[in-house]
Amino acid sequence: FGRPWIFIRGVPSLEFLPPEGPLEVAFAGRSNVGKSSLINALVGHKGLARTSNTPGRTQELNYFVPEGYSGAGGDLPPMALVDMPGYGYAKAPKETVDAWTKLVFDYLRGRATLKRVYVLIDSRHGIKKNDEDVLDLLDKAAVSYQIVLTKTDKIKEAGVPRLLSETAEKIRKRPAAFPQLIATSSEKGKGLDELRQAILDTIS
Ligand code: GDP
Repeated sequence: FGRPWIFIRGVPSLEFLPPEGPLEVAFAGRSNVGKSSLINALVGHKGLARTSNTPGRTQELNYFVPEGYSGAGGDLPPMALVDMPGYGYAKAPKETVDAWTKLVFDYLRGRATLKRVYVLIDSRHGIKKNDEDVLDLLDKAAVSYQIVLTKTDKIKEAGVPRLLSETAEKIRKRPAAFPQLIATSSEKGKGLDELRQAILDTIS
């Protein structure tokens, strides 16, 4: 991912989606799961995705691409990363939740160039009810997804294998789930190469 990445557009509703072009992967997760930190760590650009503890900020799909990605002979295949709005904020009004579900489901169902969604799960909390709802949505839309555990530095190292196997067991019967999980810590730089490789394998 060693080149500058740029933000190209925020998509509040489907008419603002960029025309389908390069293959894309998206990132989803509950507010505060560490999604912005992970995207920034992946591309090595601290301020790319905003890190914020303020949930309920603008509900947009944010598109990022490697600078000059359409040029021939680049080191990266053409691709886009899509930062999906966080979910699961306890105080969100029903209209906000409904708007999120509509935007996301329409996007998931209609986007032929979307290859995979990385669903981020906080290592301290595991899969919660609102994560299950999102996994249901992904299964219903038949979009391939893969679980990424975040903030593994916050739990005991010895607990990571158990968390991985428990989480794998929880998604075993889900039709669109990719069985392999990835454990990461943006803080410690763990699992980032594994995730980068998984993304490259997915889009190539
Ligand atoms: P987002 O709401 O999902 O985009 O989450 P952020 O990336 O803004 O992170 C939420 C909070 O978790 C911030 O205080 C981050 O500093 C913290 N955080 C994110 N990733 C990690 C991590 O890998 N380890 C630790 N210890 N904290 C993290």
